[in-house]
Amino acid sequence: MEQKPAELPVLIIGAEIQANIAYKVFEQDPTPKPRNARDWAIGCHWSSPILASLIGEEKWARIIETQTDPNVPTKEVDACPVINGKTGEIIRHVPLHSFYRVVRSRFRAFLAEDVDVAWGKKLVDVSYSSSDSSGEEDGGSSSSTVTAHFADGTSAAGRLLLGADSSNSRVRTLLLGPERARLHRLSIAATFINCSFPREQALYLRRTHPLVNLIVHPDGMMGMLAALDCADAARPETWRFAFYISWRTSPAEQDAEAAAGGRWGRRERLAQVKEKSRAFADPMRSAYAWMPDDLETVYYTPNGNWDPSMPDHKWDNHGGRITLVGDSAHPMTYHRGQGLNHAIDDAGHIVKLLARQWDKPLSAVVGAYEAEMRRGPARRCA
Ligand SMILES: Cc1cc2nc3c(=O)[nH]c(=O)nc-3n(C[C@H](O)[C@H](O)[C@H](O)COP(=O)(O)OP(=O)(O)OC[C@H]3O[C@@H](n4cnc5c(N)ncnc54)[C@H](O)[C@@H]3O)c2cc1C
Repeated sequence: MEQKPAELPVLIIGAEIQANIAYKVFEQDPTPKPRNARDWAIGCHWSSPILASLIGEEKWARIIETQTDPNVPTKEVDACPVINGKTGEIIRHVPLHSFYRVVRSRFRAFLAEDVDVAWGKKLVDVSYSSSDSSGEEDGGSSSSTVTAHFADGTSAAGRLLLGADSSNSRVRTLLLGPERARLHRLSIAATFINCSFPREQALYLRRTHPLVNLIVHPDGMMGMLAALDCADAARPETWRFAFYISWRTSPAEQDAEAAAGGRWGRRERLAQVKEKSRAFADPMRSAYAWMPDDLETVYYTPNGNWDPSMPDHKWDNHGGRITLVGDSAHPMTYHRGQGLNHAIDDAGHIVKLLARQWDKPLSAVVGAYEAEMRRGPARRCA
């Protein structure tokens, strides 16, 4: 028997975040394992109480399993050093409350454990039930549905589709068109590294702070030296680190490099960032000097952001049947460690609204979520 629209699940495109409602998650990756071996640690701090309420007490009690150092419980207040990149001097310590530093790959597998995720489903298009004539006028009528169409030719119908499909969101492009949905390019790029070191070097790199060091360089560069995965406390040589240097480079310079194509492969990017690291004192200088010149886990990334509160960025949510959450709604750079926190905040809002206002039309529920979400990043990152 065909399901009534109100009984259909919420379709979530992208499997990084999730929520305790009747839903189904569709993820383009074939498995939870990281693509290209790329992984990073993420600081979940102000949003940690929201995450705890979303995943429930029993699961939250296991959050340490997902952390960079699962041997050391999270402190109530940690102090993260901010280092002058040029001199190596500690400028100050930033207090961080409930700083849960999670390994992205472990965190994703942990969240996906008891979730219905359809892996290998790349969203390519979205359609709406024919009962909807013009979206806004529909008011969320119970006969309205949304259908996600995937690259493999399959599709799935739901009552609401949440685009949680990253900073280059396909859902955002479908809602706004390529021009309005395009990331705002910034004059910043970075090269990220994942790397392990011999025992003594690994111990040395964790001496200032065991999890993360923020580094600002007076010549317009920034960096972070962070532990990624230190699960085996007794064998520092197995620890993995994830770090970056970011620098100023205009979109025109970025385009010129992209046009040069093969001249800017992994090797060249590694050589470029090693050269930049020579302007740094330790710990950055040694970290880059110690890594091999043929390291494969090197990831160059030009930066961009997109502000959902700009009038030109308002999308039609088709009577509350489709919206954006997380990086697809408000992509930002990683420098302030805020993206996941905002994604969890979005999930908290929408779950609360869906659970408490189940008798209201989806147009009202999604409208209330979008109003709050559009205020969020601007309010917290101002
Ligand atoms: C190095 C680094 C350090 C960071 N540190 C922090 C930090 O300390 N604190 C913090 O709060 N944030 C941090 N961030 C940001 C954080 O990682 C992101 O904000 C967060 O992962 C966003 O979650 P998301 O679910 O919205 O998107 P994503 O994590 O990008 O997940 C989106 C998912 O959607 C899938 N997808 C994409 N397109 C499709 C499609 N068409 N169909 C189906 N699936 C699709 C992708 O495969 C992906 O799995 C950091 C980011 C980086 C890169």
